[in-house]
Amino acid sequence: MIFRNGRKRRWSYCQIEHESSAEMEKMVEINGKTRVCGLIGYPVEHTLSPVIHNTLAGLLGHDLVYVPFPVEPGRVEDAVNGADALQLLGLNVTVPYKSEVLDFLSEIDTLARNIGAVNTLVRVKTGYKGYNTDMEGLYRAMVSERIQIEKERIILLGAGGAARAVAHLCALKGADTIYMLNRTYDKAERVAEEVNGVAGRQVVVPMLLEEYTRIPEGRYLAVQGTSVGLAPHNDRAVISDPAFYEKVHTGFDLIYNPWETRFMQLVKAGGGRACNGLKMLLYQGIIAYELWNDVHVKERDAQIVYERLEEQFRKS
Ligand code: NAP
Repeated sequence: MIFRNGRKRRWSYCQIEHESSAEMEKMVEINGKTRVCGLIGYPVEHTLSPVIHNTLAGLLGHDLVYVPFPVEPGRVEDAVNGADALQLLGLNVTVPYKSEVLDFLSEIDTLARNIGAVNTLVRVKTGYKGYNTDMEGLYRAMVSERIQIEKERIILLGAGGAARAVAHLCALKGADTIYMLNRTYDKAERVAEEVNGVAGRQVVVPMLLEEYTRIPEGRYLAVQGTSVGLAPHNDRAVISDPAFYEKVHTGFDLIYNPWETRFMQLVKAGGGRACNGLKMLLYQGIIAYELWNDVHVKERDAQIVYERLEEQFRKS
């Protein structure tokens, strides 16, 4: 067992392969043919995405750089048109533009259309095609953490953009029931109608947050999809009653800053296993990179990128 920075190091089984892969990593030398990808959002200063894409470009020997672009409110259309004019290979889209950008795309992938949000744009002949890699990213993260969705009873906290994608994912992957708890009931009800319509079964049950005591007895996978607990509000959790956490066998928080959220602490105190959202960030980025470059990123490279992300996170 290998420990690093005081934490158990995962994926240690492929350490030898990974070190040789890291040795082969090249610095990208910018030249007349260097392709550019980037991130649009507001703000973007604290993003970790450049670590993902610039590390991958180095590992895979691609002549590509990734740059964050802050886009002020009201300028999304200009940004997409400008990116097209500058022939940017691809863009990621983050808060607050994941839905707004839909109006300025020439094509939208079916899954992204169902979710109503995109986080990745790929340049095509007529402009940009929008994809949502958050959902598949979360799935790959859960597989990597050996978390099962099929036949699971799930508690999903939140009904915003991310939680909506989680609800679609869990329904698609055969969850038994998803109790979707949100502060604003109407939003949960709308997402439930939408997901149940796509799934063709009553899989999502909308509830108000304070109704958590009505969830039937049992042990659940709980996904924390609200923004409560995000730094600097590290001491907050959307539900703080320890009795709730006794029902949770595994808690997956989409937040990764702080590294261990209050939700995760409460899950652990109740006897469950807890994961943060850094692997979801990793894999949604990897899938975007795969779409832009038409490649498959190997797990050993994913491991190197994850470790870089972790290092960068500690520095920031
Ligand atoms: P969003 O669309 O703004 O949704 C926010 C959600 O949080 C809503 O359900 C909202 O409830 C709830 N909420 C906010 N403040 C609350 C409060 N004080 N009490 C109770 N509920 C509250 O945001 P999002 O895009 O879904 O993102 C949600 C979280 O997921 C963020 O922390 C984000 O960082 C994280 N995320 C992580 C990844 C990753 O790669 N790891 C990817 C995407 C998102 P109402 O509907 O009642 O307002």
